[in-house]
Amino acid sequence: MQLYSTKKQSEEVSFQQALFQGLPPDNGLYVPGNIPKLPQRFFDNIENLSLTEIALEVSDALIGDEISREDLKTCIETAVNFDAPVVKLTDRIFVQELFHGPTLAFKDFGARFMAQMMGYWLAKSPQSQTNPIHILVATSGDTGGAVAQGFYKVPGIQVVVLYPKGKVSPIQEKQFTTLGENVTAVAIEGTFDDCQKLVKQAFLDQDLQQAKALSSANSINISRLLPQSFYYFYAYSRLKHLQKKLVFTVPSGNLGNLCGGLLAQQMGLPIAGFVAATNRNNVFPTFLANGSFAPHPSFATLSNAMDVGNPSNFVRIIEWLGEDYQSFKDKIWGKYYSDKETVETIQQVFQKTDYTLDPHSAIGFRATEEFLTSQSEDTIGVFLSTAHPAKFVDVVEKAIGQSVDIPTRLQQAIDQPSKAITLSTDFEGFKSYLLGH
Ligand SMILES: *Cc1c(COP(=O)(O)O)cnc(C)c1O
Repeated sequence: MQLYSTKKQSEEVSFQQALFQGLPPDNGLYVPGNIPKLPQRFFDNIENLSLTEIALEVSDALIGDEISREDLKTCIETAVNFDAPVVKLTDRIFVQELFHGPTLAFKDFGARFMAQMMGYWLAKSPQSQTNPIHILVATSGDTGGAVAQGFYKVPGIQVVVLYPKGKVSPIQEKQFTTLGENVTAVAIEGTFDDCQKLVKQAFLDQDLQQAKALSSANSINISRLLPQSFYYFYAYSRLKHLQKKLVFTVPSGNLGNLCGGLLAQQMGLPIAGFVAATNRNNVFPTFLANGSFAPHPSFATLSNAMDVGNPSNFVRIIEWLGEDYQSFKDKIWGKYYSDKETVETIQQVFQKTDYTLDPHSAIGFRATEEFLTSQSEDTIGVFLSTAHPAKFVDVVEKAIGQSVDIPTRLQQAIDQPSKAITLSTDFEGFKSYLLGH
């Protein structure tokens, strides 16, 4: 796979190079130059394939020129070692549960695939044993845990997780502050956008570049995006027999998950459209409505993994669909909801269907329901459930008036003590910390 920068001022690179570099030198984002179409026989037989078999076909088509099918199979089987079941909620609404990985959120797909791919190439490079790669990751909640768990104890890799102090849920915080070993947590006295800015600055800093091998693991890394296409294919495979038009609703923040869906569509998956659903951080739905893209400082909401005021993957979507928002009209619809509507939805869905949603997924449900009212009967909707309700236990229990079962792997993290250092938003302070690390 060859990738180019959205700013087009950098050279094309291989997938392996983009994986380790993260950002191109011109500070754009890498996008695949040529997206392969999967053959018709793959779609004809897709309902007989497992999630890992589908993931292998999709990733082989994308990066099979850089890794043997056999090695790729090993990476996929380690990375995607959990299910993504599709559950029927109403006649026309299905939920795809993306929270069966170790940190109970969909980011496990991206982080675990990335960790496996890096581990694969690092094992071939003796240099990585003496000068470990530093993965810098800014998180508004779920990325940090997924990356920390995905890379935990992978030889040749140090992980530094930056998060906005006091602005992620206590349970999310536990998932990356309790591991130790090759994982360090840094609490920044600021917002998620401040954390993201520090990471971006670090990558552009000459001194740091010379002293450390830096890499990113945010949704900006292309290796995070590819595996986020797998489950769209899988949902289709499970619903194909209904012979309906399929619309996916994606609870969105940085728009990485949506990019995974757009990638699947470009590879030939028959998706009738997408609904991008956000909380009041509605930069993307606003763009879809009036063509103006106006980033703002992020607002804190109950669905905090989507509290993004300047979605970084927007430039990739523009690269794929063009600058004119009119061309988006029959491809992506935007919806956004308040915290009040989010809580109401958790409550109503639980009362009507006995199904418990987390705040992000509740926004997905509500957007799907509203969208389908304007569509003919031959359209069905799948919304992606991006997190397990136990990760947002306080909000959810209050909404449904009952307790939520905490899965064992989450309880184990909660019982461990947290370890984090605190820094201000000042770049020089962060830089000297990294140089001494
Ligand atoms: C990260 C995250 C999102 C948003 O995904 P993006 O790829 O950033 O759009 C939604 N829900 C949960 C639970 C998340 O962790």
